[in-house]
Amino acid sequence: MTSSLWALYNETKKQTEDVVSSVTCSLLNPDAIFANNEMSLEDTEIYGFDYDYTLAFYSNRLHTLIFNIARDILIEEHRYPEGLRAYEYIPDFAIRGLHYDVQKALLMKIDAFHYIQLGTVYRGLHPVSDKEVIAMYEGSHVPMEQMSDFYGKSSHGHTMKQFMDIFSLPEMTLLSCVNDYFMKHNIDYEPVHLYKDVKEAIGDVHVKGIMYRAVEADIEKYICYGEQTHAVLRKLAENKKKMFLITNSPFDFVDRGMNYIVGKDWRDLFDVVIVQADKPGFFNDKRKPFRRVNHKGVLLWDRIHRLEKGQIYKQGNLYEFLRLTGWRGSKVLYFGDHIYSDLADLTLKHGWRTGAIIPELRSEIKIMNTKEYVHLMTWLQGLTGLLERMQVHRDAESQMVLKQWIQEREVMRLRTKNIFNNQFGSLFRTYHNPTYFSRRLSRFADIYMASLSCLLNYDLHHTFFPRRNPLQHEASVWSDQVCAGTSKTPFLTEIAQIK
Ligand SMILES: [Mg+2]
Repeated sequence: MTSSLWALYNETKKQTEDVVSSVTCSLLNPDAIFANNEMSLEDTEIYGFDYDYTLAFYSNRLHTLIFNIARDILIEEHRYPEGLRAYEYIPDFAIRGLHYDVQKALLMKIDAFHYIQLGTVYRGLHPVSDKEVIAMYEGSHVPMEQMSDFYGKSSHGHTMKQFMDIFSLPEMTLLSCVNDYFMKHNIDYEPVHLYKDVKEAIGDVHVKGIMYRAVEADIEKYICYGEQTHAVLRKLAENKKKMFLITNSPFDFVDRGMNYIVGKDWRDLFDVVIVQADKPGFFNDKRKPFRRVNHKGVLLWDRIHRLEKGQIYKQGNLYEFLRLTGWRGSKVLYFGDHIYSDLADLTLKHGWRTGAIIPELRSEIKIMNTKEYVHLMTWLQGLTGLLERMQVHRDAESQMVLKQWIQEREVMRLRTKNIFNNQFGSLFRTYHNPTYFSRRLSRFADIYMASLSCLLNYDLHHTFFPRRNPLQHEASVWSDQVCAGTSKTPFLTEIAQIK
């Protein structure tokens, strides 16, 4: 029996090689817009934007700046050890969408079914063994009541906080560095206090305006020049689309950035500009009225009856915005990078269309286009299929072979993770499952893309059609197609369709 198992193995491997060698790379387009839900730009009359990481993109230096300032606040204001100054920001340590167990001080990736992805649990800067994770969580499932609330915030009773913001990359790294320091020096500390102190220190970098002042003082260092953002806004204006901005950032900061990205007349492009909106509260809290800000930043006290072009408004709420503009329903498309604070309420409660800006897409797709990745995925699917079909052979010899295949599969699964990020893998997948982040993305965003500039590749009559991905009961088993000698595995068929 074992010789026929190995014959099948060799045959599948050969087919994998044939398939991979017939495939040219660069199959997936990193500048494409991907659809979760059918949506036509033809019907879109009004375009809304978030500012940070939607219109404005920041260089990695900003993360270093946030990390350094927050670390120093911890030392100087919260009396944390001076030795923490030795820690520098580690750019490739964390990824977005991770969960942090506030009480156990563990950073980890969780999948769409609330399972921890083993191998992605970190205490400080070091991985925790699978055995220890399983012992701590009595398995790897995290019950719903421990997960953070809808907006990813850890509130009462929730021990798992999800980091959804690009700005939270330095926060996760700082948490890990401080944990690392305490453990290395055998210092007894309360993880809940640490979490709150780091959160407060990071918050202070924003709230006290330290980050805003630093960026304004050296804009070229921190903001990536947005030639293509400008081109998108111009294209929409030329096509007579209405445009508005709703951002949590203050006016001076946005003004300096937009002057740099678009030019002095940037406000001419927008019909309504709202700053310090306090999203996601902006979408839910009916009580906050709009307030006009004059060009010197002074707040005016008059009641707002209209939202006028050329004016700047602070706070307010979406209900008032809808009443004053009449911009309701699916003719409005709003872009943002924060899936919860920017997009969730709009899609769930208010019926606007939503576009998610996910800058990580570009680098992940480039990795997926490498021959190494295509080879890994094709062979992984082939081997998984073989395992599935051959497990029926229960004799001892066959089981030995199957055990070897399982080990080989484990090695490959690890490589498919590490190819994206050594600690946490891809933003979108935990091995084969979608991540918790992916699941939210597919629920809250009609379309998603790496940057706003992807819009330049489509005309404004374009309809985005989601691909009809087979549900599990509709799909033939991946490996069957390889074994049956068809020319393409479903994985490759999938990339061919995207091409
Ligand atoms: Mg943003």
